[in-house]
Amino acid sequence: MAAEIRSGAAAIARAIAALCMLLLALGAGHAALAATIVGAAIAKDGPAVEMRFAIRGRGLRWRLSTHRQELWIDLSDTRMRIGARPFAGREASPVASVTVIDGGGAARIVIGVVGRADYAVVRTPRELTLRLAPAGAVSNLAAPLLAATRSESFALRRNAQPRSHPPRGAELASAAPAPSNGGVVRPNPADRRPIVMIDPGHGGRDPGTESASGVEEKEIALQIAVRLRSALIARGVDARLTRSADAFIPLDERTRIANAAGADLFVSIHLNSSPDTATTGIETYYLNNTTDRATIRLARMENGVAGGYSAPGGPDLHYILIDLRQQYKANESASLARMIEAATVAGAAAETGIKVNELGARQGPFYVLVGALMPSVLVECGFLSNPSEALLLQSPAYQQAIADGIAQAVAHYFNADAAIGNL
Ligand SMILES: [Zn+2]
Repeated sequence: MAAEIRSGAAAIARAIAALCMLLLALGAGHAALAATIVGAAIAKDGPAVEMRFAIRGRGLRWRLSTHRQELWIDLSDTRMRIGARPFAGREASPVASVTVIDGGGAARIVIGVVGRADYAVVRTPRELTLRLAPAGAVSNLAAPLLAATRSESFALRRNAQPRSHPPRGAELASAAPAPSNGGVVRPNPADRRPIVMIDPGHGGRDPGTESASGVEEKEIALQIAVRLRSALIARGVDARLTRSADAFIPLDERTRIANAAGADLFVSIHLNSSPDTATTGIETYYLNNTTDRATIRLARMENGVAGGYSAPGGPDLHYILIDLRQQYKANESASLARMIEAATVAGAAAETGIKVNELGARQGPFYVLVGALMPSVLVECGFLSNPSEALLLQSPAYQQAIADGIAQAVAHYFNADAAIGNL
């Protein structure tokens, strides 16, 4: 009897030990869910330096910030299996040093640069890739990275966090905000899909600008907007249009529609015009004041001073801008604009096989962006004043390439898996 009790006790002890082993294994399994950086490579690509960090595991969460001459990438729940100076002696200008800090769970990659530099960072499931170049040396630094992710399918954040923690300083990339839920994206059927309000510029009695052959901006803008809506819906976004027909909608009504819908982003689609018919290219604007004369000229055109938008005695846009600066999501909008500019130029260039002018992400006093409670941008998709670009802009394939570029940038924005900026 006593022996039986002893053997019973031994069995229980063995069972407990087995349970402990199982729990340990589960614990190890849980730890394995965190990401590990298992390798690093550096290469020179013309004036650019490309660094790749190989990721094992899932759910690499990163946050990017700039500190004077340093770019920091903070990785939570991440372990480092690479040396503290992974590229020692192999760094190339503008990269002066790369230091990796393993904080026993959290990790940081610190990239020191010399002079002013542009950067682009993209995370794919198996890699974190950075490209740096001296400021202005590479026209579309992000293009190779964005092209590499073109075929990836994006699991959009179902709970699209409101960007309530803008980074400090206009130069900080806000592509990787610190989500309030600790950063773990848990798909929850109860969460709504992110809403993007697409605004085809002009309409009805306001044709916008027009090409020499008489093609009107309002028509091309609507065609691109409709394609963008489909491209976003295909990526899991609830995309809507401020107008789906040739109708006149006052500028302030457009952001009111976006606010009423609780949209997460507002994207206004336009076509450009220049007195210099040789000018071509894509530019993306976010709202702010500027002293740049070409931008002021464009904003006057888009604000429709001649088209009867601005009511006599109405509030001066300059004062509205000063007033709005506190609440307007300028950092988020700038980040989105940079992403759209890079992805759209890359997409359009890939479609045509010719170099598409990247005119940049810029700030401008655009009335249609005033009053938006969400990050908002205005994309000038090309110049109707240039005969060959006007022809391209009428082609379904080119319109699709632009729509796909914008949609891809929006997906990057919601996924917080890419950042473009300078330091
Ligand atoms: Zn326009």
